[in-house]
Amino acid sequence: MDAARQLAEAIREAGTRLVLVVTGAGISTASGIPTFRGSDPGAIWKDSDVSMATFEYFQRDPVGQWRWYLSRFRTVDGAQPNPAHAALVDLERWQSDRRGAFRIITQNIDTLHERAGSRDLIKVHGTSDRLRCARAGCDNGSPRGSIARSEVDISAFEAQPSLGTLPRCPLCQEILRAHVLFFDEYYQDHSDYRFADVQSSAAGAELVIFVGTSFSVGVTDLVVQNAANRAKPIFSIDPHAPALPSWMSVIQLREPAEELLPRAVSTLGQS
Ligand SMILES: [Zn+2]
Repeated sequence: MDAARQLAEAIREAGTRLVLVVTGAGISTASGIPTFRGSDPGAIWKDSDVSMATFEYFQRDPVGQWRWYLSRFRTVDGAQPNPAHAALVDLERWQSDRRGAFRIITQNIDTLHERAGSRDLIKVHGTSDRLRCARAGCDNGSPRGSIARSEVDISAFEAQPSLGTLPRCPLCQEILRAHVLFFDEYYQDHSDYRFADVQSSAAGAELVIFVGTSFSVGVTDLVVQNAANRAKPIFSIDPHAPALPSWMSVIQLREPAEELLPRAVSTLGQS
């Protein structure tokens, strides 16, 4: 069967129960954002990325890590949502029109889902448009425990990167950090990562659709195991994915998401 039709059929069969979409770096490559882990030819950070995105590195060399994140933020800020992001907005609307449940959990820190118009979205690895105090337990004087990057003046650091020009917490003057989950941190470290909601979504999903995920982080394992144990259908859209172990019972659709998802959603509309 055609992959788009197969996916559309699974979505219809989920009924009003939760359609859970988990997205990773692969959904944003068509928007010009290189994957984080350096597994594709366009990856700009190659092997260095995992060691740069750690709290250990932040503590050792905050100036170096800030320069690295600023460069990443510039790439992300300049990117636009692609047809895969748009199709997920249409899918959320289609599902909500039949009073069904829908949620996206994204591992991406870019803001392309929300800029495309997705509503029910968990950013489990944090977000590029916010910063927070590096001191554990400090809420930055903000009810959300983080600050919009647009409200922080980074110009002095950009002009002359040094310890003295690093942006500081308005409450305690500690250095600010990226509001993202570093590789040596835990999902439970900040309430914005909404890990309890991730767990309940994984436990309640009737259908799981992975888009551009590498299956190398904890959230994918959690979602796959929950769905596989309950014998719920699991799809993965990734044109370059290696074969997954059979226990995962993932149906692998090897097509670009920006082509497959719009086709699947338009197939839904024709029913
Ligand atoms: Zn602080």
